[in-house]
Amino acid sequence: MPCQIRALSVVAVGIALSTLAAGGVSGLSTEDDGFRWKVHDEDRPKPPVVAIENGVPSDAVVLVGAESGTDALRSGDQPCLWSFEDGVLKVNPGTGDIHSRDSFGDCQLHLEWKFPEGRSVNGQMGGNSGVFFLDRYEVQILHTFENESYSDGMAGSIYGQFPPLANPIKPAGQWNTYDIVFRGPRFDDEGDLVRPATLTVMINGVLVQDHVGLLGPTRDKARTSYEPHDPVGPLRFQDHGDPISFRNIWLRSLSAPQMAE
Ligand code: MG
Repeated sequence: MPCQIRALSVVAVGIALSTLAAGGVSGLSTEDDGFRWKVHDEDRPKPPVVAIENGVPSDAVVLVGAESGTDALRSGDQPCLWSFEDGVLKVNPGTGDIHSRDSFGDCQLHLEWKFPEGRSVNGQMGGNSGVFFLDRYEVQILHTFENESYSDGMAGSIYGQFPPLANPIKPAGQWNTYDIVFRGPRFDDEGDLVRPATLTVMINGVLVQDHVGLLGPTRDKARTSYEPHDPVGPLRFQDHGDPISFRNIWLRSLSAPQMAE
């Protein structure tokens, strides 16, 4: 380590230790340091209990489950035209995208999907779908097990914007899990962007998007910019012409971040 950097490190450690000794670091002090709550404050509200039944949190809205049917989904203004049997929803190629009957904003989404065995795939063709938040922001679904494609279109990409950090997609015939945290963009009264939409995505338990700020709505072969829109909208699933199966789709609506509450 160069001398100058080593000297700076020693100074930094010294400052940190003296600050700790003075009880001046927020979160370590038991004094009134301006933070709303004291350390271990018994009056601080407790988080709600969330029970888990068959892997589904009790405060989740189930869009597709073992006994859900497809009542929560629509094809345009018609009932869902994709097939549904034994808890498995399957793209009915050519019938078009489907969307949730209800609108959602910030949320935690869980879904599972599977590419069928025995089907050929080539880049973006053969094993493609996707999930769009607020009908605009796509997290790509693509069978990328031993299948090459452009990186900002791989499974777990924010389509056309950000490649995934890893490619943990399983072989054909096996279920993949997506766990996603979506926060919508915020606009001020003039319609100017205050904060971009953000996405955090785990595929099969592997982090592939780490609280990434989106450039705007996702588009094929194009970049876009933000235009003000409602804070809620339908969740959309893509019919890209491929018989992708889905199961266990549920989401939890999230309130605004409350870091300092
Ligand atoms: Mg897609």
